[in-house]
Amino acid sequence: MFYKLNDKYILRGWEKLPYAIVNDYTKLPLFFTQSQMRVLSRCNGEWDFDSILTLDEDRECAKEFISKGFIEQCREGQGISPRQEYLFYPNRYVSVAHFGITGKCNYKCKHCFMSAPEAKLGELSHNSIMDIIRQLDECGIMGVLLTGGEPLIRPDFPEIVKEISRRGLSIQQLYTNGALLSDKVLGCLQENGHNPTVIMSFDGVGWHDWLRGITGAEKAADDALALCKRRGFRTHVQVTFHRKNLHTMRETVNHLAAKGCESIRLGLADERGDWLMNKEDNTLSMQEYMEAALNYIPYYYEDGMPVNIIISSVFAASPRNPDYYYVVSVKPECDNPKKLLFNCSRQKLQILPNGRVSVCGGLDDEFLGLPPIVSDIPGQETMPLREILSTGSVYMNIMDKKQQEFIEASSECSECKYLRLCGGGCRAMSFRAYSSILRKDNETCKFFREGWLERVIETLGRVRPQAKTKLLNDNDF
Ligand code: SF4
Ligand code: SF4
Repeated sequence: MFYKLNDKYILRGWEKLPYAIVNDYTKLPLFFTQSQMRVLSRCNGEWDFDSILTLDEDRECAKEFISKGFIEQCREGQGISPRQEYLFYPNRYVSVAHFGITGKCNYKCKHCFMSAPEAKLGELSHNSIMDIIRQLDECGIMGVLLTGGEPLIRPDFPEIVKEISRRGLSIQQLYTNGALLSDKVLGCLQENGHNPTVIMSFDGVGWHDWLRGITGAEKAADDALALCKRRGFRTHVQVTFHRKNLHTMRETVNHLAAKGCESIRLGLADERGDWLMNKEDNTLSMQEYMEAALNYIPYYYEDGMPVNIIISSVFAASPRNPDYYYVVSVKPECDNPKKLLFNCSRQKLQILPNGRVSVCGGLDDEFLGLPPIVSDIPGQETMPLREILSTGSVYMNIMDKKQQEFIEASSECSECKYLRLCGGGCRAMSFRAYSSILRKDNETCKFFREGWLERVIETLGRVRPQAKTKLLNDNDF
């Protein structure tokens, strides 16, 4: 009996995770033991599983892999394709790269966190972009989230898309303000085998132009959402609230739901970048934001749960599972000392438009002080991505840190009754407030200590008594 790996899988391995198959469409890996990998590597049409050389346990394992669709019976000699053959990457596994292909933008958003209207981070050359794609491939990073600035302002965008395809990588998300989204752009993505979720912003019915600094931005966003819907691309929209547009929450959610958005995230303008100079008195206090969110939740149910929704820090729900909700600030296993400190960004490599690698979107690139992974300036020192992703590197030392280190460093949090749910909050917020990643996140702290958790539970209990949430129990109040 001969077997071969199912056509959709490829054999791969990384430092510390050497045995995996990856679904070549979704780019999702499945990790195995050494003995399971021995079976998978023999599924190449050349190993006879009926031979006396095959262990009984390997036959059993093969049966299980058949039932799971990993392998299939084949003729002797019916081998696997060269792309399916085993490749080992001598660096740590990372699932996706959040790749800022330009620091420039055609918009003038008042709150741009990377100051793209002033092109603060500049833009990499075409050759450097191609080289980064090569390095992603070399490190076995198979998913790409394209962002900017505004990625569609690059005239070489179609070539970038083609190169990502040629290397067998997949564009999973495209961040855009929508102004340059067209049939041609979406056609180019589709022709090259990509079907990314298009991630856009829409900052309140009647207020989008104000925050974006461009007359007609709201219409452009509406048109882009309609285009995505027509062409079969999923859309996710981020809504930024400030004092001027807060009253539009209900209208905005319903407007976006009617446009066919798959999901919406509501949140506040981040206190950094251009917002620091443009905000005037428009930044919302936590009290204002929380009250608005709690007032909105009953409307969400009254309006028939029109769309998947995340209200940052507060609440998330989906019409697919109408009697279930999340409290967004509550994170699982927060008091587990073995949990990674940067759990939320460990699988997402951030590549900024200046070629530097960052730990997460909330931390500035200077945080690690690493040199860029490519250079447009001859003679400038660079560091290959593979080196950055090797065990013991500055980057991986941060990524390998455990929650234990935080618990030991922060006596206030380690003694707090909310540690199990809160975990001290976001490490980037801690760094912004205290120049240390081992202190508490003040905003998340307020959510728990000022009674907002109880208010969320109370609101849901009133408007959706049958709705349940995980992770919380009676001792938490
Ligand atoms: S569209 Fe995005 S990148 Fe461009 S200015 Fe606005 S926030 Fe910055
Ligand atoms: S509520 Fe505050 S003190 Fe308690 S664990 Fe969270 S951040 Fe730390």
